[in-house]
Amino acid sequence: MTTAYVDLQALRRNYQRLQDRTYDRCKLMAVVKADGYGHGMLAVAGALQDVGADWFGVGTVAEGRRLRLHGITGRIVVLLAGCNAEVSELALYKLEPVVSDGVQLAYLLSQVPEELAIHLKVDCGMGRLGFDPQEVVGVCRKLASFPLVLASLMAHFPVADTDIALSLEQEGVFRQVIKDVRGLGLTPMVHMANSAAFLSGIAFLDMVRLGLALYGYAPGEQVAGAEKVVLEPVMRVTSRVLQVKAVPAGTGISYGLSQKTERDSILAVIDIGYADGFPRALSGCGKVIVGGEFAKVIGRVCMNMTVVDVTDIDLVKCGDEVVVLGRQGEKQISATDIATWAGTINYEILCTLGNLNPREYV
Ligand SMILES: *Cc1c(COP(=O)(O)O)cnc(C)c1O
Repeated sequence: MTTAYVDLQALRRNYQRLQDRTYDRCKLMAVVKADGYGHGMLAVAGALQDVGADWFGVGTVAEGRRLRLHGITGRIVVLLAGCNAEVSELALYKLEPVVSDGVQLAYLLSQVPEELAIHLKVDCGMGRLGFDPQEVVGVCRKLASFPLVLASLMAHFPVADTDIALSLEQEGVFRQVIKDVRGLGLTPMVHMANSAAFLSGIAFLDMVRLGLALYGYAPGEQVAGAEKVVLEPVMRVTSRVLQVKAVPAGTGISYGLSQKTERDSILAVIDIGYADGFPRALSGCGKVIVGGEFAKVIGRVCMNMTVVDVTDIDLVKCGDEVVVLGRQGEKQISATDIATWAGTINYEILCTLGNLNPREYV
């Protein structure tokens, strides 16, 4: 059966190495949304809490509640609180919503007042969630008469992996907002960096919000300082050989018979498909490792199986382990490799492989 193995020691080592790269008073928020990028949010948060993590970023209120009930005691920031979050529930579980526009703020203020820490998000050129920079001072003034506590001001980078010059300009926009808010006598924490910015060494401010790097990856090949931190991939995914068969040259393979064998071949049918997070875009081009060697996908990836060419590999048999992500012997496949073959990003590969398969912790 296909299984995602999650190495919590590797995760902790990544956390500590990343923490070592921050300034003394710079906090590290462990971003664990999307069930810990496929690694299992509860296990990830628990493992990181053991090594001192005290800020966590989740997507939803439901995720925040699960973390609290699981014994996470640190600050929990709900990145996508939206207009459904009940103040009473946020207060009960001590969850801190990110507030990103006037409609959401009015919604929170319309409920039974409770002391609540909130985080104001500013859109400094991301083109997604957040107040316009020029609105922020007015919003902060308004907050003064309500029991909401402005815990932090935050912004987000759209291109920290590809365009440092533009990212620095956007950081400049954020710094001006910070200055204006401090002019009101307020001193919220301020934070902007994600993994790409952090690895590039920009915008550390009071906190960095790291997801991908914790799980052992850099967001893009071209992230400037990525090679300066040793990051270990945390997830390994294995599958099994279901059947091995010899076929003559010219045999059409899998749905659509989109590819034919070019020579007399030995093929292995393996127990993973697009419903298990092995992208259909790997049809005819992806690779796995079996018998310590790379085996190429031939024909279309199916819902729960895929055919690979093992003609050049010794003695592959039914039941053999197939490594989809990770190392076997000398060979290795990273989430970035798979993403490149499939035309997507390593984030998506981790989320889908991790969240669509049973996980085991090692
Ligand atoms: C997901 C997320 C992050 C983490 O991004 P990485 O690129 O995985 O480090 C940081 N901040 C916000 C607001 C996010 O939604």
